[in-house]
Amino acid sequence: MIVILKPRAEEARVNALMEQIKQQGVDIHFSRGTQETILGLVGDTTHVDEDWLRASDIVADVRRVSEPYKLANRRFHPQDSHIDAAGRLIGEGTFTVIAGPCSVESEAQLLEVATAVKASGATCLRGGAFKPRTSPYSFQGLENEGLKLLREARRVTGLPIVTEIMSETQLDDFADVDIIQVGARNMQNFRLLKELGHSKKPILLKRGLSSTIEELLMSAEYILAGGNENVILCERGIRTFEKMIRNNLDISAVPVIKQKSHLPVIIDPSHAAGIAWMVEPLSRTAIAAGADGLMIEVHNNPKAALCDGAQSLNPQQFDHLMQDVRRRVAFEEKTLL
Ligand code: PEP
Ligand code: MN
Repeated sequence: MIVILKPRAEEARVNALMEQIKQQGVDIHFSRGTQETILGLVGDTTHVDEDWLRASDIVADVRRVSEPYKLANRRFHPQDSHIDAAGRLIGEGTFTVIAGPCSVESEAQLLEVATAVKASGATCLRGGAFKPRTSPYSFQGLENEGLKLLREARRVTGLPIVTEIMSETQLDDFADVDIIQVGARNMQNFRLLKELGHSKKPILLKRGLSSTIEELLMSAEYILAGGNENVILCERGIRTFEKMIRNNLDISAVPVIKQKSHLPVIIDPSHAAGIAWMVEPLSRTAIAAGADGLMIEVHNNPKAALCDGAQSLNPQQFDHLMQDVRRRVAFEEKTLL
């Protein structure tokens, strides 16, 4: 981090500021030029608050030269992380396909979808029991009854279950969920992230609708900083001016995250596209870009779905997609796990 001081900053004030910075555990490389005086902060600057520095009236500017996240940063953890989700490894070299309905609607619906996606080769089952809906009048999910049905579907298919948590007060109810999903709308629910940091559960952290990749990594940092290393990132499309698709899949997030972080990253083409026919082409781009997996919405009768029917594949469409995925994943020398 570089701190540029204002010209003619009083020496006593500069010394006091340097002392305060050093107390935060970083060294300072001091350089006084003819035009400006620069403090180069050396060491772990993740705890140094840029806004605190900017608030000082002897500071002209502050520039970060290293990322503000440490635990999620590949620089400090060069090897790829692999997350163990109920015995299945998620991360580089493997490929995960999480499939299932947007929301759990009934026992018959979930079991039909779960057995179909399992037969087509999905590796995990998804289904929302608690749904974050834009309108309070839309279907909100079956809640705890939905969790019960997910456990039943896991028993029948053997697939680990992935479902979305809305609040830290639900952690006890989610104790036997295999992967806890944090939805796009909760990516910056910092109290929730902190509590998830105290658990050991795999967390699927989805990127917020208008969040930068750095903000996603900072949210992952909250979970990691609490001691939970089991974080999987998910790119699910971001909001742009484009109206032909629900969200814009930011495929560049995959190589960027892979370069910046050691955490696995999966792509959710369903929420990005918002349209079923686009799910398969976007899935291909995800594999080509180096994603570690996909999350796909599948419904036994998309037209009658209580949530996200337009983007849901039917089981036949999902089976077609999986045949293509298997070929491409084999070509990339990854193992479908
Ligand atoms: C979901 O996975 O059904 C969901 C609500 O996703 P997102 O948080 O990405 O909108
Ligand atoms: Mn959905």
